[in-house]
Amino acid sequence: MTSLFDQFSIKGKDVYVVDDHHKALAAWTLIRRKTEAPPNLITIDHHTDTYEAFLGYAHWEAYEGRVADQEAFRLAQVADIDWQDDKSVAKAVENLKHDEHIDAATCSGVLGNAFCIQLSDSDATPSIEQLAFDKSMEENWPNPPTEPKPKRPMSYAPAANRIYALPFDCFIGCQAKPHNDACLARQSNEIIETRYLDDQLQRGAEISRSIGLADLEAAPYILDIDLDAFHSRRAITPEDTSTFYRLIKNAVAVTIATEAECVEDLWLDEQDRMAAAELLRKMLAHIDKAL
Ligand SMILES: [Zn+2]
Repeated sequence: MTSLFDQFSIKGKDVYVVDDHHKALAAWTLIRRKTEAPPNLITIDHHTDTYEAFLGYAHWEAYEGRVADQEAFRLAQVADIDWQDDKSVAKAVENLKHDEHIDAATCSGVLGNAFCIQLSDSDATPSIEQLAFDKSMEENWPNPPTEPKPKRPMSYAPAANRIYALPFDCFIGCQAKPHNDACLARQSNEIIETRYLDDQLQRGAEISRSIGLADLEAAPYILDIDLDAFHSRRAITPEDTSTFYRLIKNAVAVTIATEAECVEDLWLDEQDRMAAAELLRKMLAHIDKAL
């Protein structure tokens, strides 16, 4: 298992670094073995990472004719994950594809709930009010919907796999309509700024309250960071670090995925490129400073 990640202890905080994000399942498993109940996950990532576990693997096995019932095979793989057994976890990591690791972890008892702070899906996990509005819009088309346009705070239904992607509007204070590419660059610059994270945590609290958790920090959590969430040097050097540092300080452990190729693909500043290795050094320095 230890070949799947690098482990550091920074001022007593366990920090695990993986290259491919799905290998974080191995680290989460080790953390799980030290906690009484499954910890939650707060993840900061460009992507939502919310695919069902083993979807790619099951699809491939069915496509190649080795498996008759793709979904039954997929669920059997999830049921096979025994987080107390290294071999079982290593096998799961081998068969997981991109963006399937969180579902694998919540569905196998490694994690409790997972909350994703992300930059790729503004609607993210839809609220009950949003779903009602969308349905009313569809039913009444071409007439206007009978349901009111949803307003925050909103309410949410518990998700079967306990994964929630947090919605966003734009950078804090943006008035542009519609939002554009320049907006997105500015929003991504703020990804770990206190004002942006505070807004995300408020949205997260609307979701977590629906499952009986006052806010995302009210239960033990692992802080998980995918370096591909950083698209500029500005983004990794926030002006106000207080909320980000609090998230680090109170986490039971921190996991970091370097995802070098994604970092390169998603980087927005051609004049000032940073590779994953440099981002990682900066992130480890943040952790050291936060503690
Ligand atoms: Zn905007």
